[in-house]
Amino acid sequence: MDIFTAIYFIAIIIEMVIRAPLNKKRRQEKMSERRITTQEKTMLGLLWIGMFVIPIVYAASNWLDFANYALPTWAGWLGVVIISGAVFVFWRAHADLGLNWSPSLEIREKHELITQGIYGVIRHPMYASQFLWIIAQPLLLQNWIAGWLDLLVFIPFYFLRVRAEEKLMLDSFGDQYQEYMKKVGGVIPKSISRLQ
Ligand code: SAH
Repeated sequence: MDIFTAIYFIAIIIEMVIRAPLNKKRRQEKMSERRITTQEKTMLGLLWIGMFVIPIVYAASNWLDFANYALPTWAGWLGVVIISGAVFVFWRAHADLGLNWSPSLEIREKHELITQGIYGVIRHPMYASQFLWIIAQPLLLQNWIAGWLDLLVFIPFYFLRVRAEEKLMLDSFGDQYQEYMKKVGGVIPKSISRLQ
């Protein structure tokens, strides 16, 4: 395994370690609303395949070798910088969202609208982190399948998920979320998007 593939898997392990305690605790939470569709479950499964299963096949076998490409070393290191940013944003988002986090679309009985910390900078830091991840992945896993499948799945997932999630948040928090949307950008901070 080359260094960049190894770093990719280290990043996955760090994210699993960040998420594991929350995942355990949130199972004891009572939910007041659950909007989990078959489409959503299918997309989450495909994301898991693109982010984890295919990269494992790439790293542990020679089945995907026909689709390899080779980038200059600096491109691999750029991937390392970008994936480190992704992991950092992922960590901050979990620290700030706490038990309000869910892998799917759920509102718990004690749900709180979080608008501070990284949620005061952007509304969707976990999805922003995943955007950084899909940019880093083709730089680290230099293979047309293992590097790119995640990107192909995540982009449609993002648009479907954000639409459904914002509807859920508006239904649950009404004006409070409306105000929040006015002040805080989605995956790009408003202060940056205003410059464009
Ligand atoms: N879109 C966010 C959160 C993803 S986790 C991000 O990218 O960081 C999905 C869950 O987070 C949903 O069940 C939703 O209820 C919850 N959620 C999303 N934004 C929230 C917020 N600002 N405060 C509290 N919960 C939020």
